[in-house]
Amino acid sequence: MAASTDPQTDAAQPPLRAVIIPVTAFQQNCTLLWCTKTMKGALVDPGGDLDKLKAAVAQYGVTLEKLLVTHGHMDHCGLAGVLAKDIGVPIEGPNEGDRFWIEGLDDAEMRMGLEGQSFEPDRWLVDGDTVTVGDLVLDVVHCPGHTPGHVVFVHGPSRLAIVGDVLFAGSIGRTDFPRGNHQQLLDSITNKLWPLGKDITFIPGHGPCSTFGHEMLTNPFVGSRYG
Ligand SMILES: [Zn+2]
Repeated sequence: MAASTDPQTDAAQPPLRAVIIPVTAFQQNCTLLWCTKTMKGALVDPGGDLDKLKAAVAQYGVTLEKLLVTHGHMDHCGLAGVLAKDIGVPIEGPNEGDRFWIEGLDDAEMRMGLEGQSFEPDRWLVDGDTVTVGDLVLDVVHCPGHTPGHVVFVHGPSRLAIVGDVLFAGSIGRTDFPRGNHQQLLDSITNKLWPLGKDITFIPGHGPCSTFGHEMLTNPFVGSRYG
């Protein structure tokens, strides 16, 4: 078969680009992702440091279309409501199971020293939903355990997942918070993430990226070497 000349399938011009911008004292990996065809983009988990995030959006020439939220923790979405209001874009996610966390953003103790303000997402997400960013379509996977309403965003054609605090390179999310559940988290990872494929690269909420395949083998909590 002849090489494709369609720019969307040209490897030199991938349909999705993503950059990681660590924010807050927790160094949370906010992700700016965008559709290279339309240059429309989304910030995933804009927890804080809004000036830094706005500078990145401007630097890459992206038109921000929406904010996506994986879960209701302060370092992931403490200032999402403020940013959405400021620039006039909607918030999609997380699952409504995290309503109590998002309402708790007004409670200084639950914010653990970070800035934050509660908000009402324009759209709560459920398992099997899709979200769009420009011409990109991302799948929504509900992965409870770290929090009850945690969702993961997956772009199949790019083999990329943004997993928040479900899974990390060499670790998994904490489950000692209110309504956390360790077994549920393990089930989310093994039953919902692993079937997506070994070749998926994931951006976790903190620390370096990895692949599902590498974690399937080597992760001390969910890796087969430790099973
Ligand atoms: Zn979290």
